Amino acid sequence: MVSQTPWYLGSAIIKASSKSSTEATEALYLHDATLRDLTTEVISSRSITSLSEEEQGLAKNVPVENFVVTMRQTIFYAQGGGQPSDTGTIRSEQPATFEVTLVRKTPDGRYLHFGKYSDTPFTAGRQVVQRIDGSKRDYHSRLHTAGHIVGLAMQLLMPEKKKVKANHFPREASMEYEGLLYNEDKPTIQGKVDELVRQDLAIQISWVEGEEGEEGRSHDGRTRIASIGGLDHNPCGGTHVPRTGMVGSIVIRKISRQKGISRVSYDVSPGIEG
Ligand SMILES: [Zn+2]
Repeated sequence: MVSQTPWYLGSAIIKASSKSSTEATEALYLHDATLRDLTTEVISSRSITSLSEEEQGLAKNVPVENFVVTMRQTIFYAQGGGQPSDTGTIRSEQPATFEVTLVRKTPDGRYLHFGKYSDTPFTAGRQVVQRIDGSKRDYHSRLHTAGHIVGLAMQLLMPEKKKVKANHFPREASMEYEGLLYNEDKPTIQGKVDELVRQDLAIQISWVEGEEGEEGRSHDGRTRIASIGGLDHNPCGGTHVPRTGMVGSIVIRKISRQKGISRVSYDVSPGIEG
């Protein structure tokens, strides 16, 4: 049913549900990336200093006076797999808004929402409404999906080139491959990327039993697979747009080389979603 491919995009920890741990957060965006609001329940609200050293290490640049909120479910993407986290707000009926600046996932599947309160911190059990920054999510999804498209173009053009790294951060987006690529390869890659966008292929998400590849790190024995038009097969925990045409134009910015690794830098136009 699925073909073996020599590379996969991203290294986000992939988890289907919280069946193994009562504390694990149910990550709803993995199943429905269109969610922008969600009502859920607070599990905990803690100061950053009360976190374990390992958990504090997940958020090095967050001010120490900030807080961390965990909830039963989340629609916030946690930074990983080369994609930045969502930002947004969490509100309750009490006059408090929690502004989420960073989301990270712990190895045991809890989503830590880092940020600051406008008022009194939430208490456990409180009902809250999550809202993510939709235009930022859309932009990140387009950048991430563009990475898959560049990857598929490379796979179709140069199947022998092994992908070693992916980065889908704004202004840094790139895919890295073993071996040497040159500026002369740029028009060829650009042409194939343009063709894949023009074809408006569907991005399909599926779940398979078992762990895929060396870095397949699903916790419950299932792995999330992203595929473009059925042409490739990549374990991936990121967020995508539904069709390649929705990415808009992708520009192959430059090709650079270092120590036998070639980097294909790319970009998409920001704010195309309005
Ligand atoms: Zn992906």
